[in-house]
Formats: sequence, structure tokens, C-alpha cells
Amino acid sequence: AAAARPLRIGVVGGGPAGFYAAGRWLSVADNARVDLFELLPTPFGLARFGVAPDHPEVKNCEHKFEETARDPRFRFFGNVQVCGTQASSDSTVLSVPNTTPSSLAVPIPLEKLRQHYDAVLLTYGASLDRPLGIPGEDTLKNVLSARTFVNWYNGHPYHSSFLAPLIDLSKLEHATIIGQGNVALDVARILLKDVDALREYDVPDHVLAELARSRVKRVDIVGRRGPLQLAATTKELREMLNLPGVGFDIDSQILSDAVRDVEAYPKMEGARAKKRAMGLLAGGSKTPLAEASKSWSLQFLQSPVELLPSSTEGATAPSALEGITSPQSIGAVRYTLNELVPPSSASSSSSSPDPSQFSARATSESRIASTDILFKSVGYRSIGLPGLPFDERRGIVRNDQGRVVDEQGKRIDGLYTSGWLARGPTGVIATTMFDAFATADLVAADLAQAGQVEEKPEFRIDEYSGGKKVVSWEDWEVIDRIERERGREKGKLREKVVSVEEMLEVVG
Ligand code: FAD
Repeated sequence: AAAARPLRIGVVGGGPAGFYAAGRWLSVADNARVDLFELLPTPFGLARFGVAPDHPEVKNCEHKFEETARDPRFRFFGNVQVCGTQASSDSTVLSVPNTTPSSLAVPIPLEKLRQHYDAVLLTYGASLDRPLGIPGEDTLKNVLSARTFVNWYNGHPYHSSFLAPLIDLSKLEHATIIGQGNVALDVARILLKDVDALREYDVPDHVLAELARSRVKRVDIVGRRGPLQLAATTKELREMLNLPGVGFDIDSQILSDAVRDVEAYPKMEGARAKKRAMGLLAGGSKTPLAEASKSWSLQFLQSPVELLPSSTEGATAPSALEGITSPQSIGAVRYTLNELVPPSSASSSSSSPDPSQFSARATSESRIASTDILFKSVGYRSIGLPGLPFDERRGIVRNDQGRVVDEQGKRIDGLYTSGWLARGPTGVIATTMFDAFATADLVAADLAQAGQVEEKPEFRIDEYSGGKKVVSWEDWEVIDRIERERGREKGKLREKVVSVEEMLEVVG
């Protein structure tokens, strides 16, 4: 019957959003088809390159994605970079800052893709950082984003070799992390945890070697608001407090104010979880601070305003890299001290506002705190493709519930978005899953409503690959098997292949 012609969706980005949407789409109808395009030769996005290696259970979602990928109606095109629609787009998109441009990837303009699919779903995630926007951020050595560090310890091919020539953990003792979300706690845990407790997972060998040389023994995690506005979850806090040999400290006055507030406002949003978290923090670390060889702290009500160079170093010290003057290292951070104020929307006549919704306001006071290295953990950020409506302020593709819209709010036919690219870089894999399901259902409803539409020409990769290698699902299974085998020999989950060149080599 004419109604049974294949309905094809092109998915851009092989992270949780892309895979969950694909699986949902395939479950909708027998004539559903999915082609998924992924920049890297490896699938799974941040499940592979974000989620911490010592949380392997979180990566169980990959089994579900494998099931989807084995459906004969699904095709995987790895090592394919979907790029913008304007003539100059290829080079723009391929030069994402802080990454090695993937000259090995096959570029396909989004506009071309749209000619082949009933709907194109953009789920290419967030591959940049939100900046702090303060002096010193881009010029001082030993200042890096949490994302770069996370990518490094997870063996992301664009970041796998960045650390050794730039940062020497064997010379650093005191780390500061700006931001208090779960990513900040992941970074702190990887820095403080005994390296031997990481060996069984999939941390690449060269990363383990560098972590084994690390002298970092103090990590301060700094937030602009107070304990009641902590973005980190109780589970991650507990894990940090239980780290063997690692002590914890916190300003007891600030903490007791928070405990008082949570008691005083039983209707506070998330009151129970907050109470639990405050109790946990008040209980301190399993290893008492005085007995600990390493420690961490949560520091509140401070916003960094300037990063200052270390005074012991000359600005023109010769670098190991010939001809390049080595930048000065960070030595300290200048913070403005904040106070918490009710949101401006809270009217004075209403009952007293919920303290957990208070925001930070700068006072005239400031302080300077020393540090050897600084991690910016204030959020990931998506990149717009030239020609695609992008909300620069929020850093997401403009969309209405997943339907891509232009500046005027007008729908762009057949174009959808989901996951971190659509909602912003927050939310765990489960949130991303529900979001992807909703978007896939929306696509199905829209296509059903559109009724009979002429079939588009089937997508053929050889029209675009130009002699470059496109990685199929079977190719990925080869990489996966090699990684597991190499891991088994070393008594670990897997030894990741960390360069695109080697990935392409092993799949021939
Ligand atoms: P992503 O996972 O980023 O996937 C996007 C994919 O698109 C990537 O594979 C990327 O390579 C690809 N891509 C990019 N550009 C292109 C292009 N031009 N063409 C083709 N493909 C492209 N959640 C949990 O539930 N538990 C955790 O413990 C947890 N830990 C986390 C730790 C960190 C450090 C981070 C950053 C996140 C963590 N999350 C965790 C959240 C979880 O990773 C996200 O909710 C989820 O990965 C978002 O999925 P996504 O598909 O939108 O984006």
C-alpha cells in the first residue's frame, strides 16, 4: 500500500538523545527508518565521554542503544560531520576551538541531508564551554574547562593528548573548581581519588599514568550562591564525603544558616532532599579532616572576577615549545563576596519567599585566594551551525517543544531538535530520554498529519564520502571488541582507542 512507503528520519548526533529518539521512532511503525550521523567513529556521546569512568552503571543505557542499532531499519554513519548550510560552513564548523579539527571526518551539509529525509532531528549536543568572562581566563596557564579535563580522562580523541604538554599535575597541589554541579564533583573526585581505585574502569592508561604523578591534595569547589542552591546531587556529595583518606571542610556559619532556613521554610522546593544534603554536609567526611592526606571544600557566596598570575614566575620563561613564549601560570583568584537576596519577582506583600530560590548579589567586599590550577565548571554550551536558527543567549537551537523555528517563531519544516542542543546542557540521561521520546512522538504526529508526501531520494553515503572512511555499526563493533580485549589483558573494563586515526586504521 502507498501508506507503507518508508518514513525516513535522519538523526544528527549519536548521544543519548539521538539513540533514544531513534529507538522510539522505530517502535512507532514498521515503515520507520533511521539513519544516524555521528561526528566520531564511536557512538554514545557523553555516555562515553562525559559520564565518569567510575560510574559504569550509568553507561548501561548503551545496551539499549545497541539494541536499536541492531534493528535492520537503522543505519549508523560514524566519522561524519554534519555542517552548516552556508558556503563557508565547513571550515567554520570543523574548527571548533579547543579541539583538533577532524579533517578525517566526512562533511555533509545539513541542507543536503534534508533533501533525503522526511524529518531531520538535530541532537548534536553541547561541545563548547560557557566562559567565565573575566580577565586571565584565556591567557594564564593552568586554567582549563572542566569539559576539557573530562574529555581528557575519558579518552575523547580530540582531547586525549592535551594535558601532558600543557599541564603538569606533578607540580600542582591546590586546585580550584568554579561551579558546584555534578560535573564539578566528578572532576574533584577524579583528582582526589586514589588512582588505584580507578584502574578497573576504562580510564586510558596514559591518563592513569598522569593521575598517578599528580600531587593535587586540595580541591576547593566554589559557588556564587549558598548551600541551599547547590546544583550537585546528594548521591555525588555522599560519594565525595566517603572517599578514603580525603577530608572535607565547609564554613560552619554558612552551613548552619542554611540548616536554619531549611527548617524555617518547610514548603521549600525540594525541602526533603535539601535537608538530607545539609545533614550530610554537617556530618563531614568519613575521614576526619585532621587525619586526611587530601581534602576538599565547598565554598559559597563568591564569584570570581579576575584570575591572577603566579608571582614567582617570569612572563617570558622559555617554553618547551620552540618559539612560543610560555604564558604565566595562574596563582590566585580574586572573588567578589556575594549576599543572597530574594528574586526580584518576589513581592514584599506576599508571604516570605523561599530561600532556596534566592539569587546572588555582589557586595563591595572581595578576597583573593591562591590556587595552582583552575577548572571552569559553569556549564557546557552548544554550537550553532551556520544557517541554523540559534539562540546565542541560551546557547541552543531555536525551537518550540522540539520543532526548529526561525527568529520570528515560524516553523522550519521537517527540522527538529532534542537533548542538550534543544534544552540546554542540563539534565541527566533519564531527562534526555524523556525529552527524546517526546520529540520522536511529535515527529510521528506531524508526519501523520502531513499525510501523503512524495518520497524523497534515498540517502547514499558514497555520494558524499569522497574517499574518506565512514564507520558503520559493524566497524564500531570491531573497535568495541578491540577495546574490550585490550582492557581484559590489563584487568580493566576497556582500553579505549583514543585517536581517530587509530580507530580508522583498526577498522581498515
Ligand atoms: P551528547 O551526549 O553530547 O551527544 C551528542 C553527540 O553528537 C556526540 O556524540 C557528538 O560527538 C555528536 N556530534 C557533535 N557535533 C556533531 C556534528 N556536527 N555532526 C554529527 N555529530 C555530532 N547523566 C547521567 O544520567 N548520569 C551521570 O553520571 C552523568 N554524568 C555526566 C558527566 C558529565 C561530565 C556530563 C557533561 C554529563 C553527564 N550526564 C550524566 C548527562 C548526560 O551525559 C546527558 O544528559 C546526555 O549525554 C545528553 O545527551 P545528548 O544526546 O543531548 O548529547
